[in-house]
Amino acid sequence: MFVKSIALQHYRNYEGLRLENLGDVNLILGQNAQGKTNLVEALYVLAMTKSHRTSKDRELIAFDAPDGAAHISADVTRKYGDVHLEMTLSAHGKKAKINGLEQRRLSEFVGSLNVVMFAPEDLEIVKGTPGVRRRFLDMEIGQVQPSYLYHLQQYQKVLLQRSNLLKQLWNRDSGREMLDIWDEQLAAHGVKIVRKRKEFIKKLQVWAESIHRGITNGGEALELLYVPSFGSREEEDEAVLLDNFMLKLSQTREQEIRRGMTLTGPHRDDLSFFINGREASVYGSQGQQRTTALSLKLAEIELIHGEIGEYPVLLLDDVLSELDPYRQSQLIETFQSKVQTFITATGVEGLHADKLKGAVLYRVRGGA
Ligand code: ATP
Ligand code: MG
Repeated sequence: MFVKSIALQHYRNYEGLRLENLGDVNLILGQNAQGKTNLVEALYVLAMTKSHRTSKDRELIAFDAPDGAAHISADVTRKYGDVHLEMTLSAHGKKAKINGLEQRRLSEFVGSLNVVMFAPEDLEIVKGTPGVRRRFLDMEIGQVQPSYLYHLQQYQKVLLQRSNLLKQLWNRDSGREMLDIWDEQLAAHGVKIVRKRKEFIKKLQVWAESIHRGITNGGEALELLYVPSFGSREEEDEAVLLDNFMLKLSQTREQEIRRGMTLTGPHRDDLSFFINGREASVYGSQGQQRTTALSLKLAEIELIHGEIGEYPVLLLDDVLSELDPYRQSQLIETFQSKVQTFITATGVEGLHADKLKGAVLYRVRGGA
């Protein structure tokens, strides 16, 4: 897919911006704090309906927005035709339109534009907390499978209700039968989430391993492993998953009541990375961890292509100049002429200039 134009209004430090005739490779240059990340973030928000760096939508609205709202829109060429996408963010929530038609559910809007973002904070996917990895899985699976987002939302609702009930049960005996009902609902949505995550990781593994071998000159074998809070690490069918989930819930019920929280389920699961059999978060060097994150992102591009038959748009925020020339050319060559790319940098130093010939250049200063 290809983004032909973008328009922003009162988005972060952009009062108004319109970019047309975007290129295959777009190089966005500017000093610190001028609006480079804000620009690629806006594309990410249009694709995912949330930012990659904050969960608070109000931070995205310009401080002095006259109507208290931010607007993002883009014209996107897709395999099946051109679409005009619009999003409005305000204190009243978010609205999204496709070709002028307001979408009833945001989860159905997700996927109208597909992006893969690679930013410095992605190193956290390898070395950060399990929550970062779960968010990575949720965002990436959600953008190719709207039904995943549905189950995730339902799961989170049930989880909240169930945890509230657990807290009340600490000092009273009545109300335990309600817990059985929540258990069933929790498990029903939970197994869908776990099954889709395992499926996703298995597919991602195939690409990530081969890309990682390429980047490391064949020297490193990368392995991805789902770490569940119930059942086994292998793929299991839904009936088996359901049995295992229910079993674990019954085994830990007393402990859950004592602690007032739900201890089993996809909200406690994790993903680990192994390089040549050793856990990357523990034994990996900074460079190995960075390369792992890069392999993952590149694998995602192929995976999305496999799922929807089109390449997503690649957003590289501040990361190209961090890579050595070999990794830079691997990155650019793999996707040249296949994947539209937006690259931000503070200057051309450290960039592999040869490879960027033909890029459309934008200079950003103070949100203009
Ligand atoms: P760096 O090279 O340091 O990464 P950048 O060009 O990527 O810089 P951005 O993250 O895009 O910088 O931020 C640019 C500016 O936007 C910052 O100075 C920030 O204060 C400002 N900003 C952030 N949120 C808002 C907002 N809601 N309204 C107005 N300005 C904002
Ligand atoms: Mg930035």
